[in-house]
Amino acid sequence: MKRSDVDAMLQTIEEETRFTRGLTGVSSLRPEVLQAMRQVPRKEFVPNFYKAMAYDNTPLPIGNGQTISQPFIVALMTDLLRPDRDKVILEVGTGSGYQAAVLSLLVQQVYSLEIIPALAGVASARLRRLGYQNVEVRQGDGSSGWPEHAPFDGIIVTASAAHIPPALKEQLKPGGRLVIPVGLPAMSQELLVLEKDEQGVISTRQILSVAFVPLTGHGGDNDNEKSEHH
Ligand code: SAM
Repeated sequence: MKRSDVDAMLQTIEEETRFTRGLTGVSSLRPEVLQAMRQVPRKEFVPNFYKAMAYDNTPLPIGNGQTISQPFIVALMTDLLRPDRDKVILEVGTGSGYQAAVLSLLVQQVYSLEIIPALAGVASARLRRLGYQNVEVRQGDGSSGWPEHAPFDGIIVTASAAHIPPALKEQLKPGGRLVIPVGLPAMSQELLVLEKDEQGVISTRQILSVAFVPLTGHGGDNDNEKSEHH
């Protein structure tokens, strides 16, 4: 990867973090999150046609009507999860596998669910080829979570849900965090952070307006609708 492109991407992420801090409450990202964003070669996760734009701070098409998210949003959502070495994370919406690769450098294990079989297959093979050994990808509807590996220290949903799937709240450990965009595709969606305390009580914080592709499957009430992409 060209060093200067990655530097520019990191600089933009830091600028956008400062620019949005009044909304997000995040004035700077953890150094280890920035380091993971630096290390993962985003160009390996985008189709050939878009490789020249791989380090632009923009979502890009990955086929099947889906996108790889904007780098700033990936970095912010990663930071909001409070990743660290002993955590086990569930991702809903593997897409290209990029977000899972970033997380894999920060946590013990990532489990990632993707509803579209072709994307799940490509992402799984890509992550293996690139040597991300602590990521397991499975094809399935992430609205049901992944009961065999639950509960999780953190759950990240990278498609927008019309409502928060109850299974995901249930599969969160006490002390855990769920980062999820919520809202209908045609309308403004809000990135939320839910925190479950040691008694199992969940509190919710609103972070930022975002625009994600919709969560489909039984957890999404928004199948077949289109939105802008992150
Ligand atoms: N995290 C991805 C990445 O790093 O490339 C980007 C995710 S893309 C914005 C959203 C993904 O969520 C799409 O690949 C879509 O097929 C997937 N998706 C939508 N509904 C889903 C569901 N119910 N379960 C699992 N994946 C789902």
